[in-house]
Amino acid sequence: MRIYISIDMEGLTGISSVNQTDPSHRRYEEGIFFMKSELRFILEYLRTKNVKKVLVNDAHWNMDNLNLKDLNFEFLELISGSPKILSMMHGINEGFDYAMFIGYHSMANTINGFLEHTYSSYTISEIKINGKKSSEAYINGLIASYYNVPVGLISGDDKLIEDCKDIFPNSEFVITKYSISRNSVKLRNIESVYNEYKSAIDRMLSKNIRPIELPKEFTIEITFRRTDMADIVEILPIIERIDGNKVLFKETDFLRAFRYIRVVINLARNV
Ligand SMILES: [Zn+2]
Repeated sequence: MRIYISIDMEGLTGISSVNQTDPSHRRYEEGIFFMKSELRFILEYLRTKNVKKVLVNDAHWNMDNLNLKDLNFEFLELISGSPKILSMMHGINEGFDYAMFIGYHSMANTINGFLEHTYSSYTISEIKINGKKSSEAYINGLIASYYNVPVGLISGDDKLIEDCKDIFPNSEFVITKYSISRNSVKLRNIESVYNEYKSAIDRMLSKNIRPIELPKEFTIEITFRRTDMADIVEILPIIERIDGNKVLFKETDFLRAFRYIRVVINLARNV
């Protein structure tokens, strides 16, 4: 059994402020405490199962939050740092039985979604794939499907899980907390959430989850926060300008589409 874990921070148990997720803020140490503790609990439980390999990909901010000295597991490999071509999903191409998305959050523009965003709070107002509003979980789930890996378990706040239930009908979910508004949240008790991972992992391992369907072609619509971001992105020849804030491109290969999304975000970020 080989398991891939993409771990973000905003949706982790105990995280209640953007300051805890910001490496330059004095409260970041609190965030790291919650990140290590939730991941360690999951790894300890996976150790009791027949798991041969777990690849953890640090998927938050500069993606260098975790330190191997805190995670002494013989089956563990850790991907740290950025940039990396597959970003939050780097390493998924190595062949896995399940992917797990831990500490994820709702997509940009979610009403009252705690720390809602899609890949970039600063630049992205909305990403649509074939007309469907897309979260990081959906986009990353499509990358997993590209490599024929099912998403076995997703954890995060209730708004994220609500959105994921239709997209990942056979996956397991753990609700870590309840969103009240973008910067307000009702936290659940740590022990209760952690224990739910045990039953969710058990159910995941006992059923046959299939990768979500990967469309044959992709129309990607990106709405930026500002028109000058669309102005710079429009220079790329694949891009069609739709309106002040919105651009569009088409692709048949999702990996290529994903790479364009990331390039486009980085162009916009530097305006
Ligand atoms: Zn994050």
